[in-house]
Amino acid sequence: MEALRLERVSKYYQSENNVSVGMKHISLTFHMGEFIAVTGESGSGKSTLLNVLSGLDKYEEGEMFIFSEETSHYQIKDFETYRRENVGFVFQNYNIIDSYTVLQNVMLALELQGFPSKARKARALKLIDQVGLTKQKNQKSSKLSGGQKQRAVIARALAKDTPIIVCDEPTGNLDQTSAEQIMSLLNDISKDKLVIVVTHEFDQVAPYATRRIKMSDGEVVEDIQLKAHQEVSVTKQDKSKKLNIFDLLKFSMRNLFAQPKRFFFMLFLMLIAISVFTIVYSNQIYGLRTTGLEQSGTYPSVPSSRVLVERRDGNPLTNEDINIIESFRDVNKVYAYGALFHNDTSFNLVTFYNNDEVMDMMNYRFNDSAHMLTSNMLSEGRLPIAMDEIVVSNYWWGIDIDQTVLLTSDRIWDWDKNALEEAGIGYFKIVGIIDNDLQTIYFSDAYLSQSYPTEPSLDQSLKLQVKQSLENSLQITINNQEVFIYDARTEYNGYDVYLDNEDIFETPLSLEVEVQADSLTQTVTMNKTLVFANGILENEFNYGSISTSVFDEIIQTLLLEVEEEYVSLPSAIASVSVENQLAGTRLIESLDAQVYKVYYPANIPGFLQEFLVFILAIVAVIILLILGLFLYAVIHAVTKNMMNARKKDFSIFRSVGAHESTLSMLVIIEQILLSMIGLILSILILNAIVMFVPDHGLTIEYMGVSDYIILVLAITLLGLWLGLRFNKKVFHQTVIQSLTSGGE
Ligand code: ADP
Ligand code: MG
Repeated sequence: MEALRLERVSKYYQSENNVSVGMKHISLTFHMGEFIAVTGESGSGKSTLLNVLSGLDKYEEGEMFIFSEETSHYQIKDFETYRRENVGFVFQNYNIIDSYTVLQNVMLALELQGFPSKARKARALKLIDQVGLTKQKNQKSSKLSGGQKQRAVIARALAKDTPIIVCDEPTGNLDQTSAEQIMSLLNDISKDKLVIVVTHEFDQVAPYATRRIKMSDGEVVEDIQLKAHQEVSVTKQDKSKKLNIFDLLKFSMRNLFAQPKRFFFMLFLMLIAISVFTIVYSNQIYGLRTTGLEQSGTYPSVPSSRVLVERRDGNPLTNEDINIIESFRDVNKVYAYGALFHNDTSFNLVTFYNNDEVMDMMNYRFNDSAHMLTSNMLSEGRLPIAMDEIVVSNYWWGIDIDQTVLLTSDRIWDWDKNALEEAGIGYFKIVGIIDNDLQTIYFSDAYLSQSYPTEPSLDQSLKLQVKQSLENSLQITINNQEVFIYDARTEYNGYDVYLDNEDIFETPLSLEVEVQADSLTQTVTMNKTLVFANGILENEFNYGSISTSVFDEIIQTLLLEVEEEYVSLPSAIASVSVENQLAGTRLIESLDAQVYKVYYPANIPGFLQEFLVFILAIVAVIILLILGLFLYAVIHAVTKNMMNARKKDFSIFRSVGAHESTLSMLVIIEQILLSMIGLILSILILNAIVMFVPDHGLTIEYMGVSDYIILVLAITLLGLWLGLRFNKKVFHQTVIQSLTSGGE
């Protein structure tokens, strides 16, 4: 039965400036069952003939028939299918995948052919046994001797059980004995096939050959029938099975792990590139999402971990409200009575000598709940549990664990114990110290969960503070002239102003009185009789004095006025503890604005915020694109040689019959796998840094699910791109071109 037929087929090799003849006007017919020896001088065209017959190389003239079918319409893909299903090829220089074991090399042919996976291994082992390599089956092919490699390749060629076996000087590199063994083996295993063997030494095949073809200068000069061949009838195999995705995945993984050094190097490279990208990405995200978020000037000491929420209808928050708010991902805890937080967020921490004389007063700018803490954040001690336990940051020295301290409003600055106690919030015990410089006091949940824990004392301290403030800066305007009035107890620029001066002058006047305390300015019209020294205002100094009783009366009147504004506690306000500024902003966005009114003291969006965010987003995209391109270029440059070294493996895959599309997928899957492993590792490493390294400066905690999805897509794209670029390189040549150029 006719298997292959050539009709006046010519093949020319085109090099830079000349064309050489590979073979010329060859007409030959090959039948199933034949064992054909092709001989001839070196350069006579033997290899060319085999390459054309097996579809590894193209030809320029004439026509080839495969199982009587014309091939002029064949595409690369058709030749690949033909080769995969019909041809087993043995090259002179082994062409074995060095990084694979013998078994993997033999299995490869079966896998690519889509051979049933369960039967694969058994068949491969059987062939390996037949070529006598059972002992070496799990050895890396690079460690085999020349003869062993050639046997492995023969096993691979035969494993597929194709009707045609083509061998190009299979024994060229072997010693006499090995060569004879190989030939005998070929003969044994290929009784009902068409076998074409190119050989220098005809003697080696003489016992088996049924026909001898001699070539010279690209032409057949002798074609002798030596003995009759067995009649075999087969049909051309052209089932086009594609590898399924699992086989492809397995294949890719094997390729990745077959060369551990290469794998780890690539992974390392990916890891660095992806980490750099992730860090820059998260920084951009952080920048975008925190633009316009800044510390409030009105509540400078409310930390960004606190959001205030009240109902729009003015009712106190119900348990249901609290549950709703607490159900948000960004919310740590809701304190229904947030008065303390709202009212006074900054404290003085007072220590005493022998519990008596004031030793020191230290200002803590923020207060927060123990909910924000975990015990591993503490450098000493434990978390606060009881009402009177606190944790403080060790910003000030002289803070000790188990010390009892008095907390007062930071508006009170007095060295008298009684005065402090009167305005104080209470005595607390320091049970833990946290190692940061945030000047923060952390209260226990128990303390913060009480109903209006410190309201009375806060009021007290506030009043005291307002009074002090008034006493220090009472300012009145008379006839458009500003007059400062001071209590005799106050010194100002070295001028003592005494009250109850004998020489006083009474002027009934309607006065505009401006009072300043903190950021609050209150203008009050007063009808009071003021008493001035010297009877007239002295322009030079603009000082006067006033009787104590009048002074106190003014203060009292003003206090009432100021208090209304100052000490108006929104009774139904809740304090919500959130992780950070971003979480706070997200909470504002997610809470139902119809029902709740939210204050976020730490967040004052600027009026240009949206525009700014838009501009920043564009900048971020540009930065990330440029960075992505740069990283791609770096990876490509570094791995180019590595990938070129793999061209040989890919040519072998192709010679065994892998489809171009299969291999393209393979490269892409490999790259993507590598990228994904790199991504997972870098995220793990970066998160570990965030967790265990203080002051790490990373912002990846600001990344949400969508950011991770974007990252995965970007990295996949990178893998895809690298894969495609490599494919383009490998597949623009025929198998033979890439084997001869890209080979060793
Ligand atoms: P053989 O296998 O009998 O030694 P080949 O088929 O390899 O002979 O070569 C036949 C002719 O084609 C020789 O003249 C050789 O120089 C030429 N030839 C083979 N391969 C190439 C090639 N890749 N580029 C240019 N010329 C080639
Ligand atoms: Mg040759």
